[in-house]
Amino acid sequence: MAHVASYSVMRCQGLSMLVAACTQRLLAAAAAAATATAATSSPVALSCRGPSSRPYSSTAPGAEPDTEVAVIGAGVVGLAIARQLALAGRAVLLLEAAGAFGTETSSRNSEVIHAGLYYPAGSIKAWLCVAGKQQLYAFCQEYGVPHRRLGKLLVASSPAQLDALSALAARAAANGVSDLRPLSKAEVGQLEPAVRCEAALLSPSTGIVDSHSFMTELHRQFEEAGGTTAFHSRVVGGAMAGPLKRLRVQDANSSEEIELSASMVVNAAGLHAQAVAASLDGLPVGTIPPLHLAKGSYFTLAAGSLAHIHDGGGGGGSNSSSSSSSGGSYRFRHLVYPLPEPGTAGLGTHLTLDLAGGVRFGPDVEWLPPGTDPRAIDYAVSPARAEPFYAAIRAYLPGLPDGSLEPSYSGVRPKVAGPGQPAGDFVVQGPAEHGVHGLVNLYGIESPGLTASLAIAQLAAERLLQCGGSAC
Ligand SMILES: Cc1cc2nc3c(=O)[nH]c(=O)nc-3n(C[C@H](O)[C@H](O)[C@H](O)COP(=O)(O)OP(=O)(O)OC[C@H]3O[C@@H](n4cnc5c(N)ncnc54)[C@H](O)[C@@H]3O)c2cc1C
Repeated sequence: MAHVASYSVMRCQGLSMLVAACTQRLLAAAAAAATATAATSSPVALSCRGPSSRPYSSTAPGAEPDTEVAVIGAGVVGLAIARQLALAGRAVLLLEAAGAFGTETSSRNSEVIHAGLYYPAGSIKAWLCVAGKQQLYAFCQEYGVPHRRLGKLLVASSPAQLDALSALAARAAANGVSDLRPLSKAEVGQLEPAVRCEAALLSPSTGIVDSHSFMTELHRQFEEAGGTTAFHSRVVGGAMAGPLKRLRVQDANSSEEIELSASMVVNAAGLHAQAVAASLDGLPVGTIPPLHLAKGSYFTLAAGSLAHIHDGGGGGGSNSSSSSSSGGSYRFRHLVYPLPEPGTAGLGTHLTLDLAGGVRFGPDVEWLPPGTDPRAIDYAVSPARAEPFYAAIRAYLPGLPDGSLEPSYSGVRPKVAGPGQPAGDFVVQGPAEHGVHGLVNLYGIESPGLTASLAIAQLAAERLLQCGGSAC
């Protein structure tokens, strides 16, 4: 076993992104440690900080772990979990395969703060969405993260959809969402003159958030609380048996591999969570749910189309002289969602807004072939997918002009249920579910994972710590 000082230096140099904070601190500590060791010949503990940080030490197998908790994946969920644990005084190492946080699904979504209307009562999604929404608004308020509580219109485009609208209101109420307001056709016309419908529900607590600013603030707080981030650090395997977990981590640039140890491990690898789990010896494979990938593409409005949308709009009702309309400079003030299409895995082709007022439509649902490797996803948006968008959008926005949709970006949902199956729930497995102490795996964290991220973090931390480390 390499001497602890050189081991730590080697680790930081080899994994080029046991970076910034860790590298600086460990190199400095290693230099001091080398001096101390020469003088005392006793094992030296290198601390990579954390208020209750256990020291980095690899002097002997079974000795103190390199870190108390290793969190795999720095998407919004991994960041929220890492922050939660660091604020609770744990020494946390956040391992991220990419060179920055939030480069996969967390930056490929609608940035909507969902109210919690759609999910079956009693589901983890319903519970965490409603709780997470409140936490997210409070967080944004407290730390100045740009967001807006715009409200959303859920529109029934035909009399045949009125029952479904009522059913959705009942489902929302069962989930604890009690602020929905039924709107008549005329009321919708006043709020959004370009929208045509039979009736609608207004969800005032739906909003939008700047997801990048949110993640930046999570990461800032994580590091301020003593956490360390290692970018370009891909977990490629591990051994989970026993109190000391071992992870094999590959430098994404050089392919060099090192092994590090942790008392606890959280797998928040998003689209790759199943692959990471499968690489962990000691985790029963039967506990790993299937992975189904559903791509969602977005289209934006071509410049100048907004004026036509308004001119051609059927009007929601009798009033077409709303203050929210000003002819050529028409702008939407609410998110507009059709009713979810039964049997599909999405929420319908909806209209969302970014914080600058930009309009985008989508995401649609395109199941990727079974077995698609998440590392080989093609995120390009095919212009050919625009055709069904026109039909779906015109059901509530009849003024959408031909040729007005331009391909934008896409994201991919990591689903645990496939085409034709009932929608899957979030899966947050701790020791009670898979039998391995000190390990939490998160699967199927699709929408509303951004909204729910702070609540997911609480649940994951609870499940990890219930039976983490020596407590079990
Ligand atoms: C089209 C679409 C629209 C959505 N819209 C919304 C919305 O409006 N509102 C909402 O609340 N939610 C929405 N969501 C859901 C939300 O985006 C996700 O739930 C959330 O971003 C998931 O975050 P994550 O951290 O689990 O995953 P990710 O963001 O994918 O992060 C996982 C991270 O793990 C890293 N990683 C993977 N493998 C390894 C490894 N072996 N070693 C180290 N690191 C690894 C990856 O590089 C990545 O950075 C949407 C999702 C999609 C696809």
